[in-house]
Amino acid sequence: MKYCPTCGEPNPDNARFCVKCGREIPSETTPSPAYTPPQHSPNPNMPETYLWQSIVVTILCCLPLGIPAIVYAAQVEKYYLQGNIDAANRASRNAKNFCIASLVSGLAIAIIYVIYLATVGSLLGLFAVA
Ligand SMILES: [Zn+2]
Repeated sequence: MKYCPTCGEPNPDNARFCVKCGREIPSETTPSPAYTPPQHSPNPNMPETYLWQSIVVTILCCLPLGIPAIVYAAQVEKYYLQGNIDAANRASRNAKNFCIASLVSGLAIAIIYVIYLATVGSLLGLFAVA
């Protein structure tokens, strides 16, 4: 079986002319690319969901910024399974950004807290001495 390069009609291997459109068929015709079934390109890998990172920063650092990170992280897989790779990539980026924001603000709060404790501690120390 070979395929007419003009119309895609299957023809016997020994056919010189297409049975459908009558055009000449080159002897070593391979199936014309236009009529081969479209190759299903394998899905690109699912973007990073940042799900566990979101949960960790929510628990350890900053709840208000961690929650949206978890929401976006959950969307990554949902969009990916729907085949909406662009949306999955966007959700992945958003999840990452909220993780970073949460981590940074968590660290800032921790540093302020440590400074606060150190200040209070040294004040108490002064009073203790006095
Ligand atoms: Zn033909």
